[in-house]
Amino acid sequence: MKNSDKKILVTRSSIPPVDEYMEEIKEIWDSHWLTNFGSKHRELSEKLKSYLGVERIQLTVNGHLALEYALSALKLEGEVITTPFTFASTTHAIVRNGLIPVFCDVLPDTGTIDPSKIEDLITDRTCAIVPVHVYGNICDTEAIEDIAKRHNLKVIYDAAHAFGETYKGKGIGSFGDASIFSFHATKVYNTIEGGAVCFDDEEFGRALYGLINFGIRNAETVTGVGGNAKMNEFCAAMGLCNLRRVDDDIAKREKCAGRYRKRLEGTAGIRLNTVQKDVRTNYAYFPVFFDPKVFGKSRDEVKDALAGHDILARKYFYPLTSEFDCYKGVLDPGETPEAIKLASEVLTLPIYPDLSLEDIDRICDIILE
Ligand SMILES: *Cc1c(COP(=O)(O)O)cnc(C)c1O
Repeated sequence: MKNSDKKILVTRSSIPPVDEYMEEIKEIWDSHWLTNFGSKHRELSEKLKSYLGVERIQLTVNGHLALEYALSALKLEGEVITTPFTFASTTHAIVRNGLIPVFCDVLPDTGTIDPSKIEDLITDRTCAIVPVHVYGNICDTEAIEDIAKRHNLKVIYDAAHAFGETYKGKGIGSFGDASIFSFHATKVYNTIEGGAVCFDDEEFGRALYGLINFGIRNAETVTGVGGNAKMNEFCAAMGLCNLRRVDDDIAKREKCAGRYRKRLEGTAGIRLNTVQKDVRTNYAYFPVFFDPKVFGKSRDEVKDALAGHDILARKYFYPLTSEFDCYKGVLDPGETPEAIKLASEVLTLPIYPDLSLEDIDRICDIILE
């Protein structure tokens, strides 16, 4: 097949050499211990705690239940300030806890919550803020912490996009009352499916443990109405393998991002993602924002042109979660002009560790033509 005919997807999951995974799961055959906090689970918890620079961690079956149960463990009631420029999971996790999402606008350069707009949305029913680190851009954690302290609000970060990132040298999972990560196959770091909640407070940890394991305290004592969201040993084993190469993967992603930047930067009507100060980023996504009036083509036209060459870029995030059918007439979409604009202009281009620079050039040639 000619290189120019090759299909390119927006991402490609990182996987270890098959022998490495086989070696890792061999012990499972010896022990017959497939799930329920086995040795792979314990080892991965310890390794991730140190890699992420967090005090405590609870691994989960996926990122969504990490968030849904983290909110539940805080026993919240009322309204939660969040943003609609995110994946379905964030808003659904709030609603599924019987909480009401109140949509705040985002900052145009990072897509993260605009702290200057939070306080106007606070009422006597507000209990928490759920900010989202978007594309690996991190939220203004200092401003958010200040607001939360003054109004006595909990902060739970959706850090699904931010694996391995640091702000001023501090692991991004260590911010807020809790931060959640997703280890889904499409993310920078995967355990096939998986996720984690990072936190400091031991009591919160006990509540969370109950939720992810049927509220079971010990063999004869059930103290909570919990569900089931445990990570199994096969996923933990994949996580151990992938953790060995994640720094390498991020370095390769950085090269991809650099090539895109070199080719697209300075083109009239194209805006690239902001580079944030004091942040070690993970290059999770490569979003490009098209201003149709200046660029001459809309985001949708660019997407179609790429699709014509079997290159799949993604409108991420579009639509806003506040515009989902299931929330029409149910939730107040709020005033979020910047989020609406970003959702109409964004296209995330393919990026993954083994995407070749030649392929990136081909993608850029199509865009620039
Ligand atoms: C992927 C993702 C989630 C959900 O994670 P899963 O592991 O797929 O359940 C939540 N929030 C955001 C922003 C995500 O991108």
